[in-house]
Amino acid sequence: MPYRIFIDQGHNPRNPNAGAEGNGLREQDITYDVGVRLAALLNANPDFEARLSRNSPDTVLGASNAESLRLRVAAANSWPADYFISIHTNASDIPNASGSEAYVFAANTTAFYFAEQILAGLNAATGLADRGVFVRPTLYVLRKTAMPAVLVELGFITTPSDAFLMRDRPDLFARGIYNGIRAYLGL
Ligand SMILES: [Zn+2]
Repeated sequence: MPYRIFIDQGHNPRNPNAGAEGNGLREQDITYDVGVRLAALLNANPDFEARLSRNSPDTVLGASNAESLRLRVAAANSWPADYFISIHTNASDIPNASGSEAYVFAANTTAFYFAEQILAGLNAATGLADRGVFVRPTLYVLRKTAMPAVLVELGFITTPSDAFLMRDRPDLFARGIYNGIRAYLGL
């Protein structure tokens, strides 16, 4: 049986639940693209089956922010997925904040160690710093998913070097997450 990986691209193309903006870029465009590339890598490997929360760039999930999040979790839970990955870009008021980080529901869990491998894969593929895994039990998509769930922040859309790398080399971010998934599973 292939591992079922649910990839949530985090945001809608417009409100409700649009993403952050910076350096002329929109989070939802970056996460949509990286998600599609990650799904393609996974679905080309018989060890995996991947599904996306947004299968087209125009797809808007939900009529409110809460419903948008609920529908993403419901799609993963009803499948059911074995692992859930929500893809985001970070934002900060701190100039030149840089690197990738991840959030999970609790420490010392499958999700925590899975997230560590995803960040290691991203660091190796993109060269961006690994800022570590943080526990965020209040995040809806981590709280309500029935399987190990990781929210990954690829880099800072507010920092030009991170933003332009995400714009120009989305393939590196998809490949990094893919390599991290395989490393965690020993595949
Ligand atoms: Zn986001």
